[in-house]
Amino acid sequence: MKNQQNYFVNFSRNLVLIAIVLSLAFSNLTVYAQHVHSKIGKEVKKDTKSVSNIREGKIDLKKIDKNKDRKVFQDKMHWNVISDEAGKCPLCKMTLKEVTLQEAKNNLKKNGFKVK
Ligand SMILES: [Zn+2]
Repeated sequence: MKNQQNYFVNFSRNLVLIAIVLSLAFSNLTVYAQHVHSKIGKEVKKDTKSVSNIREGKIDLKKIDKNKDRKVFQDKMHWNVISDEAGKCPLCKMTLKEVTLQEAKNNLKKNGFKVK
């Protein structure tokens, strides 16, 4: 009878231990899932980032072309949204198109913008 009681005590202790281990593992999993999720969220953000590159006044394309590859990214809806990096227009969320400095200049002139 005493043995049986001990067995029962041990068994319930084990159950408590198992419960603790499981809850720890589960909380770790939750933390891990949140970590992965936030990582994915950041990547998505980076992918769809809007470039705040709305140019005003006289547009200096050479200044925009920081990496000097003579190419910039321009929005086909808002011609004065120009960036040296790929991205999206902050106004219409369209992907900017890669154009040469000359093409960008022509597009701007055709649409009434001033180019330096
Ligand atoms: Zn746009």
